[in-house]
Formats: sequence, structure tokens, C-alpha cells
Amino acid sequence: MRLSKMHLKTLREVPNEAEIPSHILLLRTGMIRKLVSGVYGFMPMGWRSVRKIEDIIRQEMDRAGGQEIHMSAVQPAELWEESGRWFAYGPELWRLKDRNGRDFCLGPTHEEIFTDLIRSDVSSHRQLPMNLYQIQTKYRDEARPRFGLMRSREFIMKDSYSFDKDQAGLDKSYQDMYETYERIFTRCGLNFRPVEADTGAIGGSNSHEFTALSEVGESEIAYCESCNMAATVERAQCVDAEASYAAELPVEEVHTPGTKTIEAVADLLGLEKEQTIKALLFVTYDEEGKENGYVAAFVRGDRELNMTKLINALGIPEHSIEFADEAKMSQATGCVGGFTGPTKLHDCTIVVDSELPGLKNLCAGACREDYHLKNVNYGRDYKGDIVTDIKVLQEGDPCPICGAPVKHTRGIEVGQVFKLGTKYSESMGATYKDENQKDQLIVMGCYGIGVTRTLAAVVEQHHDENGIIWPVAIAPYHVIITVMKPDDDIQSKVADDICAQLETAGIEVLLDDRKERPGVKFKDADLLGIPVRITVGRGAADGIIEYKLRRDADKEEISVQDGIARAIEIVNAEK
Ligand code: ATP
Ligand code: MG
Repeated sequence: MRLSKMHLKTLREVPNEAEIPSHILLLRTGMIRKLVSGVYGFMPMGWRSVRKIEDIIRQEMDRAGGQEIHMSAVQPAELWEESGRWFAYGPELWRLKDRNGRDFCLGPTHEEIFTDLIRSDVSSHRQLPMNLYQIQTKYRDEARPRFGLMRSREFIMKDSYSFDKDQAGLDKSYQDMYETYERIFTRCGLNFRPVEADTGAIGGSNSHEFTALSEVGESEIAYCESCNMAATVERAQCVDAEASYAAELPVEEVHTPGTKTIEAVADLLGLEKEQTIKALLFVTYDEEGKENGYVAAFVRGDRELNMTKLINALGIPEHSIEFADEAKMSQATGCVGGFTGPTKLHDCTIVVDSELPGLKNLCAGACREDYHLKNVNYGRDYKGDIVTDIKVLQEGDPCPICGAPVKHTRGIEVGQVFKLGTKYSESMGATYKDENQKDQLIVMGCYGIGVTRTLAAVVEQHHDENGIIWPVAIAPYHVIITVMKPDDDIQSKVADDICAQLETAGIEVLLDDRKERPGVKFKDADLLGIPVRITVGRGAADGIIEYKLRRDADKEEISVQDGIARAIEIVNAEK
């Protein structure tokens, strides 16, 4: 491809709204084009890389026995009502009506559609197991679209669904997909880590996220260097503090004016934060968006509340709970902003972290302005409607598996696999007849990869201050030939020759024959990040070119034939 003929618009300036390298570089290279917030188009080079990721996914999915199909992005509301997700999915679901007022959505994921397909097409155990996948555009009306392709409202996803006769079948399908994902992300050039994950709005029992390690990632991961524990912080279990067997002292009300934070009250009373109870207050909403209750959650003073665990404990969708307006809540429940404790609350759901019942003589808000209670004890002074682990596993806390101090790191979730079990086959009635002609529920798994997010994650891990450094496997082109003087007959002939020989060998070549200054061309070559650069200049007359890999600093003057041979060798080894 001749660069002089290509639709390419690189930007010298960093666009204002772009904050992270992948967003900045994908815009600067002109690979993606923003239409509106969270909605992007792909220009020739960007689209080539997207298709390469898709090809890798197709090859590995096919190899694992997956069959590619393509379902519609437009989905009727009835199916979502059957599964119960028309409400549960919340405002992220991009809803629309047809001209007759019938409800639809643009698919954010396709569990309902695939379950519907299978319940009508599969009847016998002989048809199972089966794994169907598609690579398709998904829609999520994200609350905060940001970071370009990382969190967009329209994006490409590979989603697949496995259908098995029983749990053992699902376990195998899940393991196959897990290994398939490891191969896919390795081939894309990512440094990634599979971690245990929460199942979120998709549901099911087990789940892993595949996380590309990166400072800018939105997933926080807790991991342990002594054993193999690795989980998203949302999911990671915590070890409760050891129970105390101290004698229970009498409750004492103490005057603590103006101490609205744990730090302030602990300082005033000369206590450690571990000796206090922290309160967090929430309001919940019903399907019509009307308030339908209050929640007070309590954790030890030095802990952080884990919102995902709280939502799971309550069994409600993420979008139906919010921090409460304390003034409003106080009338209904007796809480007092900054001075709420678990002892005098009424008319609200009290959720108590699992370690609090074991701890003795803690200090909590008195539900009275400017007062706290000392020596508060579970059972005697307060009770929880729900008692379960609702705390965050913080850096340095003991690992839930082996007890060593855990570490935290950040990553980009590029894929997730779920054991759905019978969640959808039960709600939607997807069954098969077993060997005895008895109806059995189909056991399902589902598996997603963010194709466009993967593209961004690769750029995040492979760039320097001058631009992108594409891994060969997903580079838009393998080789860029920079012609110093395209008007020079010898240079242009040598360049055309190299191009032809490389293309014959199956190498994808970009020929920079633009009438630009060499400096501009080199800058663009670095920005675009094509893995191999061959520069054709004055040496061309003597059959000499300059050979350089984008990832290395060194350049070498070598013969045309050596340059061609080296380029072919490296591309074939790495593509
Ligand atoms: P997140 O937690 O980042 O919102 P999710 O867990 O809701 O993602 P899944 O339902 O697991 O996402 O979707 C499968 C994959 O699709 C994700 O692993 C991710 O790579 C990709 N993906 C999800 N949401 C987006 C988005 N808004 N923009 C781009 N890719 C996305
Ligand atoms: Mg996910």
C-alpha cells in the first residue's frame, strides 16, 4: 500500500479529552475517529488491526470447536423480561421502541438471544455439548464513557456460549475456553493475568477475568506472591480479624462534639481505628425508580466497604442502590449523619461485616448528634439482618488462601469467562431430553472478549514517547519502507522492488512515497509503530538500505537482499 494514496490523517497535537496513552495514540495515528462520546469509527490502519485481533480469536475459537454465527444487535424486550434482566440491567441497557411502540434494546451481551436459539433448536442430548460464538458490535450506555476504546458505548465483542448436559460438561467447556483465552491474549502480545472475578449483571457461579496489567486499568487486582491467589478486589475474600474473648464492658455514652470521621473520634478518645465501627448509609429503589428502603452497612473503622459484596449480599441490581441523603434518612431510621451506629436503628436493613460479631467493646456512633457509644458488642447491643463479608481486601491484609500479605496491582479487563450453570436455561426454559427421554436443563457458560478494548490494551502496553510499537501479530502492516526522495528514480525503483519481493513472500508492506521531508516521515513511522522500517536513501544506488526495528534503537546499513530476508524471517516468526 502506498502511503501517498492512503486515507491517513495523523495529528501532531494531543487531543484535549484524551488522557491515557492508548487513547492519545489511537487518535494521533488517525486509527480511530470519534463521532460522539464513547462512539468511534475505525480508519484503514485501525480497522486492519481490529481484523487481525478478530482473526486470532476466530482461529483459536474454531480450534476449540466453537462455531461462528451472527445474531442481531437488536433484541426484543420480551426475552429480557423472561430472564428478569429488563430491569436488572438498568440504565446501561440501550433501549428503543419501534414505530408500534414495542420495546427493544441494542444488545450489551447476548445470553437471552443464545438461550432462546438453543431452546428452540436443541432437543436431544445427542446435540450437546455445543459452543456458539459471534464477533459483533455491542451497545452499553455507559455512565462514564472514557479512555477511548477502553470504555465506549459502542464496541466490538466476541461473545460465546457453551451448552452442556451437566456440570462436569460445563467444567470442561469452561477450562477449554480459559485455555483458549490464554492463547488468544498471548498471541495478541499482551502481558496478562487471569484473576477470579465477581459475576456482576451476567450472573452464575464462577468467573475469571483476563486482565492486561496496566497502571491505567480500571480493574484493581489483589494477588499473593506466596501462593497463586489472584482476584479482582471486588471479588477477593477477606480473612476476618481474630475474635476477641475480652469481657464485655458496660456501654458508655461519650460526648464527642464535631467528630464526624473515624479519625476524629479515634483521636479524641485515644482509640485505634480498629476499635471503632464505621457506618455507611444507602437508599434503595424499586423497578419504577421509587425509593423502597434504607440500608445501613457496618465495617470495622479501618476497613473499606466493598460495594460489590454489599450488593451481592442484598441480592439487588447495582443501579438500584445509592448513598443516602442522611438528613432524609434520619427521620425514617433514627440515624444521625456522622454519628450513626448500629444500636438504635429501625426500619432499615442492617448489614454487618462478618468480623464485627467477634470483636469486643468497639466504639460506634450513638445515633445522637455529637455522641458516641463505647463498649458496643454484637448480640448484646446490636444485630445484623445480614452478617457477611462486605469489606475490601487491602494491600498488606492476609491472603485468604495462605495468610501472606497481599499486594495490589491494576489491570484492564480484556475478557471474562463465566459458569452460568442453569440461570438462563431455568428462567427461559431451555431443556434437552436425556437418554431416558427425561427433560433436563441445559448447563451454560458464557465467554466474552472486548476486541476493541484489547486493541487499546495492546497500545497501552506497547508504546514509547514517540508512538505505538505494534507486536507483529496485530500490526496494521509488517514493514514500512521509507523512501527518502521519491522523485529519485533509483530510490523509487529499489523501494518498489523491495515492496514487490516482500509482498510475494506474504509480508504486508506500507510504502511511504509521500513528498514529505524525511524528518516528517520518520516521525510518522515511529508514531504508526510498524514493526520493521526499511529506509531507502542514497545507498540505494549501491544496493544498501537502512534496517531498523521499531522496538530497538539500533539501525543498520545492510544490503537490500539481507534486509528483505531479515524482514521475512522476523515477520514469519512472530505473526
Ligand atoms: P466492565 O467491568 O469493564 O464494565 P464488564 O465486566 O461489564 O466490563 P463483560 O460483560 O464481561 O464486561 O463484557 C465482556 C468484555 O467486553 C469485557 O471483558 C471487556 O473487555 C469488554 N467490554 C465491556 N464493556 C466495554 C465497554 N464499555 N467498552 C469496551 N469494551 C467493553
Ligand atoms: Mg466483565
